[in-house]
Amino acid sequence: MDGSGFPEVRSTCAYCGVGCGVLLRTDGQGGLKVRGDPDHPANQGRLCSKGNALGETIGLDGRLLAPRVNGTDTDWDTALDLVASKFSQTIAEHGADSVALYVSGQLLTEDYYVANKLMKGFIGSANIDTNSRLCMASTVAGQRRAFGSDTVPGTYEDLEQADLIVLVGSNLAWCHPVLNQRIQAARKARPEMKLVVVDPRRTASCDGADMHLQLRNGADVALFNALLSAIEENDATDRDFLRHVEGAQAAFDAARNSDASVTGLDAEQIRAFTDLWINNKRVVTVFSQGVNQSSSGSDKVNAIINCHLATGRIGLPGMGPFSVTGQPNAMGGREVGGLANMLACHLELETPEHRQVVQGFWQAPTIPTAPGLKAVDMFKAVGDGRIKALWIIHTNPAVSMPDADAVSAAIKSCDFTVVSDITGATDTARLCDVLLPATGWAEKSGTVTNSDRTISRQRAVLAAPGVAKPDWEILAEVGRRMGWNAAFNYASPAEIFDEYAKLSGQAAALGRDFDISGLADLGEAGYDALEPTRWPVTKTRQGGRFFGDGQFFTPSGKAQMLALQHRAPAAKTGPRFPFRLNTGRVRDQWHSMTRTGKSPRLSAHLAEPFLEIHPRDAAEQGFKPADLVTLRSPLGSAILRVLITDSVLPGEVFAPIHWTNETAPSARIDNLVPSVVDAVSGQPESKAAVVALSKF
Ligand code: SF4
Repeated sequence: MDGSGFPEVRSTCAYCGVGCGVLLRTDGQGGLKVRGDPDHPANQGRLCSKGNALGETIGLDGRLLAPRVNGTDTDWDTALDLVASKFSQTIAEHGADSVALYVSGQLLTEDYYVANKLMKGFIGSANIDTNSRLCMASTVAGQRRAFGSDTVPGTYEDLEQADLIVLVGSNLAWCHPVLNQRIQAARKARPEMKLVVVDPRRTASCDGADMHLQLRNGADVALFNALLSAIEENDATDRDFLRHVEGAQAAFDAARNSDASVTGLDAEQIRAFTDLWINNKRVVTVFSQGVNQSSSGSDKVNAIINCHLATGRIGLPGMGPFSVTGQPNAMGGREVGGLANMLACHLELETPEHRQVVQGFWQAPTIPTAPGLKAVDMFKAVGDGRIKALWIIHTNPAVSMPDADAVSAAIKSCDFTVVSDITGATDTARLCDVLLPATGWAEKSGTVTNSDRTISRQRAVLAAPGVAKPDWEILAEVGRRMGWNAAFNYASPAEIFDEYAKLSGQAAALGRDFDISGLADLGEAGYDALEPTRWPVTKTRQGGRFFGDGQFFTPSGKAQMLALQHRAPAAKTGPRFPFRLNTGRVRDQWHSMTRTGKSPRLSAHLAEPFLEIHPRDAAEQGFKPADLVTLRSPLGSAILRVLITDSVLPGEVFAPIHWTNETAPSARIDNLVPSVVDAVSGQPESKAAVVALSKF
């Protein structure tokens, strides 16, 4: 308590998957002071620029304060009755697969759990997918192929205990800044600790790195095949550990026959990297969207995992492949089965025994037997009329999906569309029939899971604006109105979490990894007081690493190495579209800027959209610094100011993703990106469009 009379409340940052703990203190007048929580294991008091500015992003301007139907404010009963009746009527006329939910890694776990239960257990369709599909679906697919489960093997402590960190397709310094701070602090304490960055761009994460491998866009499989081949050649395999692995020989054979020249790196650079990797036993390979957002994303993930399995460098202190997730609760969404091809608690939709357990536990009338439509296919189905009622929750697909103009047109053409969000002023909300006002960060309570499996509480400290409700409550209200009163009769997020924890115990009894049964029966007070806790959490085990003991979740109990070959990005450059367009974040903005755009401090970092281009290309095109240029792809166009820099390779350009019709209509980037996906994960190839450039 300080002089204000308001206590500090422990919560979690609203942004990235690092999941930093924050201490929140209201001033009683809508203002909020935020500082890092020194006792949270993820950040130990640290925050980045976005976390530090959280208090500046909570203003009520632009907030949706009441339900709105066709542009007119209304009451909750009218809006919810309409949503429930339209969904029920559509299902009755066209079947369960004619409706869909498109949700978000911004949802809290309890919200996500109810959405998934409503769709899969009661509506009876698996047509629920999430914007996490755009973020880390390739990691999910890669981990499931290798481990038999979507399990992150390691912990954040590994990043400090490693002797070598390799960042692959990850600008950690901007996108997961507190993890970068932890690595930098560890390197200061142990200067012998090495850092390698594998990225077609020279980013802020390269500052102070021992090596930057500026490989060609999409060539990661070739690089990690070269590493696997060197591991075999140098007899650096762990023969004992390989007893727990299948497919090793085929993977080695494929790696030996792989062509490393497609990386664009010379043999000396590759040798320096493989020597460093082989000679440092404690190595963590961190990967993120540069790996995932690719038509070969799952293969890239498995190429990295192959090297860790071959050397037994997994699930031990300072060793392992490590996926860092984009959103605050992408992991929680994966755990509740928020993807169209998953069931709750990491159970498998395709496995009859798993379906039976979930259906029985929920006492659900039905459960789908096949995966639903993944994000890109879902919006195609909206566009061609197969999906006739769509509910979008806390995400802005009209901006963020590839081929965004086609997605906008699809949403507009859909018979019935609903958006739940904190604002009605997004490109997506403007297209929809019904807007439902949801509570936002600092106004709602629940849990999130971060990239190292730590479950933390988010706590409400601000009053809900207008008549906004938490998402779990909105979803449960619709479920009850659709006739499933008992299944959705929740009184609090604590009740939902308790049900979820109990279901996880049944999943674990089937031999699955996700087990938080030790958090069942907490009661309201226990849930309220829940400390950050890394799963698994049973009565006898808490946290720790997976797979160091050689036990995996595949039917054979063995890990799988995969035989892989490089595949170039699907869109080909050529005379008409000679440049490869990479896309990504800037340090101080988040998604489509609905929150970070409110902070002048954050906007001061990079105030306007831009296009990075190599000096050689700029000279050839006749571009001068700060010229406005038009980008044209086969799908659309944008106008951006050029930033001439050798941080990108010749032939490649980079543009940020954040700007929208609301903030800079000419700078929307995802309307240039083709809707090409990884065939295994369904994740779009967001970093490898092709474009032509001309002076505006
Ligand atoms: Fe928030 Fe991520 Fe920054 Fe931590 S690193 S303060 S979770 S944005």
